Amino acid sequence: MTLPNIDALTQDALDHYLFPLARKDDVRSDGANIFVAAEGLEITDAAGKTYLDMMSTQTRASSLGYGQDRIAKAIYDQLVGLHYGGTFANVVDVTVRLAAKIAELAPGTLTASVFAGSGSEANEMSFKAAKQYHRLKGDKPRAHKIIARWNAYHGATMGALAATDYLGTRHITEPGVPGYSHIPSPNLYRTPFGMDASEVSEFCAAYLEQQILHEGPEYVAAFIAEPIMQGDGVQVPPDDYFARVRAICDTYDVLLIADEVITGFGRTGNWFASETYDIKPDIMTLAKGLTSGYIPMSASVISEEIWQVLMNGTPEVGAFAHGYTYSAHPVAAAAAMANLDIMERENLPANAARMGTYFQNKLRQEVADHPLVGDVRGVALIAGVELVADKVKKTPLDMDLKAAPTLGKYCVEEGLISRALMQMNALSFSPPLVINESEVDEVVARFRRALNRLTDDLVKSGSWKAQ
Ligand code: PLP
Repeated sequence: MTLPNIDALTQDALDHYLFPLARKDDVRSDGANIFVAAEGLEITDAAGKTYLDMMSTQTRASSLGYGQDRIAKAIYDQLVGLHYGGTFANVVDVTVRLAAKIAELAPGTLTASVFAGSGSEANEMSFKAAKQYHRLKGDKPRAHKIIARWNAYHGATMGALAATDYLGTRHITEPGVPGYSHIPSPNLYRTPFGMDASEVSEFCAAYLEQQILHEGPEYVAAFIAEPIMQGDGVQVPPDDYFARVRAICDTYDVLLIADEVITGFGRTGNWFASETYDIKPDIMTLAKGLTSGYIPMSASVISEEIWQVLMNGTPEVGAFAHGYTYSAHPVAAAAAMANLDIMERENLPANAARMGTYFQNKLRQEVADHPLVGDVRGVALIAGVELVADKVKKTPLDMDLKAAPTLGKYCVEEGLISRALMQMNALSFSPPLVINESEVDEVVARFRRALNRLTDDLVKSGSWKAQ
């Protein structure tokens, strides 16, 4: 492989590319992360260094790893066959087949898809579908409010951002879209208001009911929740939480939207986390794993009942009003079909369950007793490691120590890509579903070395000592 001139490339990036979420000074001092090639689980940067990618390319999109020829070929064939077929009343055959395939895989009565390019757009559609459903059905014609959860991330477009409670990302663009409110989420490690973990599920579900009553049930269109919250540091829900949430939503005719942008397509060991946690959503938002990052595509998948209401519409109001020029792009649909075919043939959700158990056990075995590690959590191929100053008291490490970003940096130096979670002392891992045992062993060994380096630093600087 011929490598580019890294200095010139870095300078061009600094001069002409606006990095999201990274300050120019940081890019300058840490170096720009510019990648040039990849294969399987490994990705190579512009300096020629190769990393084991435990984040499915930072955003958790590349569920199949790199270099899947069949997806590339499906994209090419669709491009030269029929690259675009319009939108709104038009659709290309491959997109119809994809919608049918998703309906076959999706749990419960989820039956019809509306497509777009990103998870943010799909959440926008989910909100619009919920509002228009209530309006067209006529029972709650003024229902427009959305309830989301503290610390949630649901996207960067204005409607999705309003549901987002990742403070750094929302506040800078306020005032945002009105009609959104947020409630506590069931964090079992740092429980809301320090309550006992056994009370968390009941409390958070009861809070949803209170919030619906407070907002006025006739105005509340939907409640959105990720099955496993990423923004809050990989939070796995208590067993009975979603059953309680479902019952409350039913009582007040509030739709339940499962944001499965990250958890969808095998990552939790089932096709969807809604199966893993028996969620029974009315609407499910999908992205990332739908095409494994080979090309942008997302979907909002709606239940049979919502689909009937939106499709039939009413003479006064019309039918579902929403669409983009590139909704349901056939090239993306062809990529998605090839991607799902590979997942199905290789039974990758089952591999994620098997390798996930191996990974979670190995991670716990190797790092859970480390004095800097407060909690190791997750399910299947989603894991989070939270660092603490005091393991027993769960005292958070001072954020000024920048422990998580430093640990992330040491992982990179060990040739391992993880992700330090903003505003938290935690690191997360979401490897491709194709990972094998020896790769897991190697990853955990590298992570342990990086953790030891961080520990030495903190001890030497006198900023931390083992309790
Ligand atoms: N929802 C969740 C849970 C996400 O994690 C993300 C992005 O990471 C989104 C929505 C937004 O997706 P996108 O970045 O594709 O717009």
